Amino acid sequence: MVKDIDTGFELYVFRGIERDYLVSPCRMCTCSDFLIHFVWGKRAYPCYHVVGFYIALNEQKYVKLELGHEEVKEIVLEVLFQGFSKLLRKALSKQTT
Ligand SMILES: [Zn+2]
Repeated sequence: MVKDIDTGFELYVFRGIERDYLVSPCRMCTCSDFLIHFVWGKRAYPCYHVVGFYIALNEQKYVKLELGHEEVKEIVLEVLFQGFSKLLRKALSKQTT
């Protein structure tokens, strides 16, 4: 979970093996699986990222990052246009748990 400390905007990023996905608390995801089933299907669950997101949320298994607005914007753009975020990985590796 990434929190924009300037605007208070909260963003959830699901870290996949090859790609990262933006998952929002209103059961929305940026992966193609979600889009296909959201548009054409009526499945009980949106996609495994959203399902995994809720499991992680319940078990508190997520990393909380607080970044400035410019960095958060950069992460969103990287995920949307490149499929994954280098900045996010860098921020996560700096994080001590
Ligand atoms: Zn997804």
